[in-house]
Amino acid sequence: MDVAFFSAKSYDRSSFQSANSDNTHTLTFFEPQLNPQTAVLAVGSPAVCAFVNDCADAETLDISAAGGTRLLALRCAGFNTVDLKHAAELGIKVVRVPAYSPYAVAEHAVALILALNRKIYRAYNRVRDDNFSLEGLQGFDLFGQTVGIVGTGQIGMVFARIMQGFGCKLLGYDVYPNERFESLENASHVSLPELYANSDIISLHCPLLPDTYHLIDDEAIAQMKPGVMLINTSRGGLLDTPAAIKGIKSGQIGYLGIDVYEQEDGLFFHDLSDTIIQDDTFQLLQSFPNVAITAHQAFFTRNALEAIATTTLANISQFEAGEPLTNEVTYQPPTVSTAEPVA
Ligand code: NAD
Repeated sequence: MDVAFFSAKSYDRSSFQSANSDNTHTLTFFEPQLNPQTAVLAVGSPAVCAFVNDCADAETLDISAAGGTRLLALRCAGFNTVDLKHAAELGIKVVRVPAYSPYAVAEHAVALILALNRKIYRAYNRVRDDNFSLEGLQGFDLFGQTVGIVGTGQIGMVFARIMQGFGCKLLGYDVYPNERFESLENASHVSLPELYANSDIISLHCPLLPDTYHLIDDEAIAQMKPGVMLINTSRGGLLDTPAAIKGIKSGQIGYLGIDVYEQEDGLFFHDLSDTIIQDDTFQLLQSFPNVAITAHQAFFTRNALEAIATTTLANISQFEAGEPLTNEVTYQPPTVSTAEPVA
């Protein structure tokens, strides 16, 4: 089947070309994001493949449908950028990759913890400058620390096991507590206030939903241990960034590691090194020595990309063969949230 890829980077080409080495499908890669201005590029392609920040609103879908598109294959888990109702009205099926590698994201959360604690980013730059002083580089042992995990699902569980390996005590909070977490040594589910009050490190692994929007706000930060380390590899909207900045300035937050940022669309995934960033909040956040930011790269491992490519092409093959679509996303009535924004 002819498949038109949008927001295609070099790594998308290579992972998909190797997953399609038998040329089952004909892949065409376009660099621009999918939107009403670019949708026309896919005219004649029965399948369009889109990523997290591609826009599949009603106008875009109208152009795609008029051009012959019948399948929107998302190479990500989230589908909040798709007008599912309109897609259904146009007869366009939507499929996604619900899970690829919980290890990739959990391990990145640990990388942020270690980088912040042992100040790896500062030490690296210092040594390159022939400055071998240790002043300001002191860290702490992770052994014996209490780690709070908000969301003990797939990624939260992998993260919990890694932190257990360091000898940490684990406190979990989840709206659906699971026995697998409880069965870990030194781990128990507690209430959110208990988790905030007793954790030295807090890592967010729950989805962004209406009830988790700005979960970490002024009130939550005030309940945390002074000097807490806060890690967010989940979704930018979980964190009220101005509240975090206030917490950093007062010392209540001792370390902040983020892979996601509420206003990341338009920033992340682009090389803006020659431009003037207009987002003052982001620039202020960057200026603090105890803040480490990565640009939504937690998912970005070879293994995850292979899994994404394999599942996406399998989704497309199922559609072409007229088989039931294992990973179909269907329109739900408005009372049910269809907008879980996962990566
Ligand atoms: P999952 O569904 O396996 O786990 C999420 C857990 O959060 C579930 O156990 C659920 O019960 C729990 N939860 C739901 N609402 C909650 C609430 N209000 N408070 C506490 N817990 C709540 O999902 P997962 O695969 O572990 O992914 C977790 C999140 O990681 C995703 O939602 C996504 O936002 C993020 N993610 C980020 C990247 C990245 O590259 N940075 C990549 C993939 C996923």
